[in-house]
Amino acid sequence: MFDDDGSAIAGGRLRIDLRALVENYSTLAARVAPAHLAAVVKANAYGLSAARVAPELFEAGCRNFFVAHFVEALELRPCLPDAATIWVLNGLMPGSETACARSDIVPVLNSLDQARRWQEIARSLGRSLRAALQVDTGMSRLGLAPQEAIGLAADARFGSDVSLELIMSHLACADTPDHPANAAQLARFEALAKHFPNVPRSLANSGGAFLTAGFHFDLARTGVALYGGAPDDAAENPIRPVVTLEARVIQLRNIPAGSGVGYGLSFSAERPSRVATIGVGYADGLPRSLGNRGAAWFNGHRLPIAGRVSMDSITLDVTELAEGELAPGDWIELIGPNQSIDTLARDAGTISYEILTSLGARYHRSYCETVGASEARAA
Ligand SMILES: *Cc1c(COP(=O)(O)O)cnc(C)c1O
Repeated sequence: MFDDDGSAIAGGRLRIDLRALVENYSTLAARVAPAHLAAVVKANAYGLSAARVAPELFEAGCRNFFVAHFVEALELRPCLPDAATIWVLNGLMPGSETACARSDIVPVLNSLDQARRWQEIARSLGRSLRAALQVDTGMSRLGLAPQEAIGLAADARFGSDVSLELIMSHLACADTPDHPANAAQLARFEALAKHFPNVPRSLANSGGAFLTAGFHFDLARTGVALYGGAPDDAAENPIRPVVTLEARVIQLRNIPAGSGVGYGLSFSAERPSRVATIGVGYADGLPRSLGNRGAAWFNGHRLPIAGRVSMDSITLDVTELAEGELAPGDWIELIGPNQSIDTLARDAGTISYEILTSLGARYHRSYCETVGASEARAA
């Protein structure tokens, strides 16, 4: 169960349900089978701690982990058994070649320059080096241009110096299933991958995992859906929430009609009101754009945010609650059964990814473990 020791001294508490995480892994793995499922654990597993998340997913059967930066891969490597492959999405930065070759970490080669530098290191070490190759199929972000990739495919010396273990691309519009760019990128990816006949293929992210089976290829790379984010805009969402965020009530006050609330007095009470101040703010990752737009929840009541979000606190209009229903020290829900990360993100004018990766360092964090992991620890 959750270990909440220590939450009494924090302004907010974050609970991360690793059982729900593993269930989401199973749901997604079943959805893309017979393709394999990789976990994207960049940005510290979208803020939830890669060191906690990745071993749970390994135990659940995951063998491929993607991070963005080489430094993230170096930090993650000791957390995972050798059987796990760690891929670096942002590829091979100049100067990191030797360190990368000496570690058991596989770069995603995103440009001809990166491919050539990896090949050079392989030659200087006198052995073939593993890599993934990313091709750009229309997002214009990372990856080789199609003609560059075709050139590499025809280069036998590259083929012997570098052991290509994955050819991949990334979808720009996977969260919008009907977007015509999805089919266009799929067609381009299939045409390019044909030049690398025996190399496993990967195209789908979380959104892509919910597109048709043709998008799944050999490996799907899911991030946000593992962590409880809705994979697309569709109503049906089989993904379980992983994160619960609650904040503590610091103070309550009654204010007469006409009173202003918060910086800039941007909220003005239309009636005699009751205001609760809770102990989290934008320094904890709650965007200022939630001011006068978002809400929190208590006892089944939606409590609108009144006024601007401060650095360390937020004021809520709690007039709707009965006198005495709420007291200092009570916990108020910001993300949980009543309000998903996607709802909070929408109110803030952003996406669940940004909410998750902005979650602050001041929260009391507790991890509800999987049965397997806690048994393993006890043994
Ligand atoms: C971040 C990322 C993913 C994971 O995306 P989600 O939408 O979180 O599943 C997959 N592939 C690449 C290249 C990425 O950058």
